[in-house]
Amino acid sequence: MRCPFCFCDDDKVIETRSARNQTSVRRRRECTACHRRFTTYESVELNPLRVVKRNGGREAYDPEKLRHGVRTACVKLPIPSSEVDALVSRVEVQLHNALGGEVSSEEIGDLVLRELAGLDPVAYIRFASVYRRYQDLQKFLDEVRVLLKST
Ligand SMILES: [Zn+2]
Repeated sequence: MRCPFCFCDDDKVIETRSARNQTSVRRRRECTACHRRFTTYESVELNPLRVVKRNGGREAYDPEKLRHGVRTACVKLPIPSSEVDALVSRVEVQLHNALGGEVSSEEIGDLVLRELAGLDPVAYIRFASVYRRYQDLQKFLDEVRVLLKST
């Protein structure tokens, strides 16, 4: 660890203790060159993604659930499973960039829909009809119409 005062690269640890409910380690260090002391924190880098559900509840992100939803939308369509897996991976990369490690189920659905729109219109419509739980048939039909126009 580089000394923040003189930038010397050598220090000794004079005290180690766990901090913040055992989730990180605090080390008191002393620079061997200027003898000034500073503190470092060490913690495990975990990025557990959480999904904010429609009802405001939160649950751990489950990659199987996403994969299953996309596969179901693609059933009996001429889409190789490698394409489905690639799509899921692309969505996951975007999810893991989410600020604060939280995404809403709507955001996940929108990301998948954006990907499916470029892949297969039938898969898109299937996924949209399940995911968006259209209460309004007209709204759903409008969206389908827009999609058919663009393909
Ligand atoms: Zn120093």
